[in-house]
Amino acid sequence: MSQPATFKLDGRDIPFEPGQTIMQAVQAAGAYIPHLCHHADFEPIGSCKVCSVRIKGRTVTSCTMPASAGLEVESEAPDINRDRKRLIQMLFVEGNHHCPFCEKSGNCHLQALGYHLGMQDTHFVHEYPQHAVDASHPDVMLDRSRCVLCELCVRASREVDGKNVFAIGGRGLKTELLINSPSGTLRDSAVAATDRALSICPTGALMPKRQGFVIPIGQRHYDHVDIAQRPEDT
Ligand code: SF4
Repeated sequence: MSQPATFKLDGRDIPFEPGQTIMQAVQAAGAYIPHLCHHADFEPIGSCKVCSVRIKGRTVTSCTMPASAGLEVESEAPDINRDRKRLIQMLFVEGNHHCPFCEKSGNCHLQALGYHLGMQDTHFVHEYPQHAVDASHPDVMLDRSRCVLCELCVRASREVDGKNVFAIGGRGLKTELLINSPSGTLRDSAVAATDRALSICPTGALMPKRQGFVIPIGQRHYDHVDIAQRPEDT
């Protein structure tokens, strides 16, 4: 039987199947490339750029780049991780992420990536943007200040829940999550607290109501384990 084709990730051989992306092959091999808008259950969109790697001096998103034999992929270079940290810091200042008050703390991918990348401060001037909270639904809460525009809820609502409740609209700092309902709020939308669109949200932007501190802070997914050891989407 012939050996599978391989490429190198930071010097390590990674086997891949035809049609796999670099990210898919890396995850299948049990290795890790930091990522935020990618999820193994969904087609990649390459928007957050956190999974960017370098191939022959060119920066590409590993979630969209097809694997091919002989590639030499750099991921853990200090300058690549510094740029990833800057992206995470930008997301922190473009929203209002008050981790100690957020029910998602310890389960949040944004926070966990900040820990993983050694983020000690936000580096940039905080924007303190004004984004509307939508608490109109009896069971679901949307805090747009915590939204990182990853579009995972958009994809999950459309492809898993079969509802198409969410979309991204606007420009620049005014870009935000839109609701597909007559009022434009969650109240008369088709969303439910059990939707995949909620459980897949990597931050505390979309959360079920009345579920506070079921798991105490300090005992949550990333409280003691680095996200590289336990990425939730693999
Ligand atoms: Fe992503 Fe959550 Fe914002 Fe949806 S609400 S775009 S899942 S961060």
